[in-house]
Amino acid sequence: MILDEILILREISYKENDKILHALSKSSGKIQIISKGSKKTSSHLINASQIFAYSKSTLNVSRDMYILTSAQVLDNFYGLKNNMDAYYSASYILELISYVAQENQYDEKIFDMTVSVLSHLSKSTHGHDKLVAAYEIKLAAMLGYKPDFHHCLSCGSSLKGDGRFSIREGGVFCASCVNNGNGINVTYNEILTMDKILKSKFEDLGLIEVPKHIMGLIRKFLFYYIGRDNFTTLKLL
Ligand SMILES: [Zn+2]
Repeated sequence: MILDEILILREISYKENDKILHALSKSSGKIQIISKGSKKTSSHLINASQIFAYSKSTLNVSRDMYILTSAQVLDNFYGLKNNMDAYYSASYILELISYVAQENQYDEKIFDMTVSVLSHLSKSTHGHDKLVAAYEIKLAAMLGYKPDFHHCLSCGSSLKGDGRFSIREGGVFCASCVNNGNGINVTYNEILTMDKILKSKFEDLGLIEVPKHIMGLIRKFLFYYIGRDNFTTLKLL
């Protein structure tokens, strides 16, 4: 028997009353869970077996499947249902983490950050795109692709002005070195902005102005490293 925190990424109807759940667990990475009887309205597992449910759960392990035996819902991010933009953003977060997370490869920091961004998305009336961009750049950093916004990729000197951001090299070429590599022109302010959202907590993003093309650049950066860009939920954003 295992006690673990889980976040439901996907629910699939199974047999008459059961569900198969794809979940991110805090201690075991991505797992598949069978939730028996959870389609019945009388089931004590009904709330914990729905997409977005975040719960403290007891699981039994049986061959290649986990079986949900009891669960205490910690949050279901109810606010997502009242705001389409928040809901689509959160759906994209689930699709993204579902792709990135591996079985038996747990990362508590990524788990906590995912729960945190869903919580902020569900409570915010606006600025969802900024929360998503912050999640994307933080996720890239946690996966080992932390961009350097402080030193020039080529000469190593401190960045003090406009430059060129290279997705492939994960950093910035300073004005004197722009011809040493490929990249996208960025102003000094934009470099500072990307660094700020990388380091800020989700609750502190409100004060930071993030231009649309910078959010686009962050997404491209993450997608380059995870090797995928065709997420279905992105079409809704
Ligand atoms: Zn340089």
